[in-house]
Amino acid sequence: MTTDAWVNETLYPQWGQRFAIKRELARVQSDFQDIMIFESFTHGRVMLLDGVVQITERDEFVYQEMLTHVPLLAHGACRRVLIIGAGDGGVLRRVLQHRTIERAVMVEIDGEVIRLAKEFLPGIAGDAWSDPRADVIVGDGIDYVRRAEPASFDAIIVDSTDPIGVGEVLFTDEFYENAARILSEGGLIVNQCGVPFMQADELRETSERRARHFPHVGAYVAAVTPYVGGFMTLGFAAKQADLHAVPAATIAARAQEAGIAGLTEYWTPDIHVAAFHLPPYIARHLPR
Ligand code: SAM
Repeated sequence: MTTDAWVNETLYPQWGQRFAIKRELARVQSDFQDIMIFESFTHGRVMLLDGVVQITERDEFVYQEMLTHVPLLAHGACRRVLIIGAGDGGVLRRVLQHRTIERAVMVEIDGEVIRLAKEFLPGIAGDAWSDPRADVIVGDGIDYVRRAEPASFDAIIVDSTDPIGVGEVLFTDEFYENAARILSEGGLIVNQCGVPFMQADELRETSERRARHFPHVGAYVAAVTPYVGGFMTLGFAAKQADLHAVPAATIAARAQEAGIAGLTEYWTPDIHVAAFHLPPYIARHLPR
């Protein structure tokens, strides 16, 4: 259905972005959220949840590569990864690009997001859904971490909606406490912490909470066009020191060994290292 309609994002009441709709593809009110997928003129297909842009086909590589390759290569010996949210499957695909990964468990609360992503955004996950190392579960991330065994994962990647509605539980002390419990000795967790120019509270509050459960807390940045307002921050919390400061040469060697060298459009070893060098307007929201 070709329209001359526009979508106005509703994340910020006094400011925002809008997309001209070439074709509306799906509109579903699920048990958890309002899901909309449409063809745009500028970003390929776009998915919104509750009026907020989650992903576009044209630039999803930026966020997905930085949310996945940075923690896995900073750690350097990940074998078991837990993914929470990420219903579009893009993080799952990037995790499974690492031939060193033995198991990837993905826990997404809304089965409708997965179903619609498979139907209308198939290129984002590709064939990751059928990879024998993948275990895709429809469920609430907080329930999964409450029940998971101690030290059963090396890394946790939280690609959730913002800390409102169903996503809120993923930013709580209880979530981080369990995350620390189910991570192995040198384990780490990354999660989206919003765009500090507009969402500084989100970064500050989650960092203070993460610091109560992890000795090493920080963040890194990426330029994600549909997350308007400048740098997007990705929270980084680790059980061992200096994972944020691994030299580019070591990161490059690990990328070679993992088999992802040359497969990326945004992430490089230098971009990886540079992403942890934060401008003061962002760094001030992190625990000293
Ligand atoms: N990259 C996007 C962002 O930064 O805004 C997020 C994309 S991804 C589609 C977000 C996913 O988190 C959604 O599919 C949503 O259903 C899922 N989600 C939200 N709360 C959740 C929870 N408590 N447990 C598991 N998945 C959850």
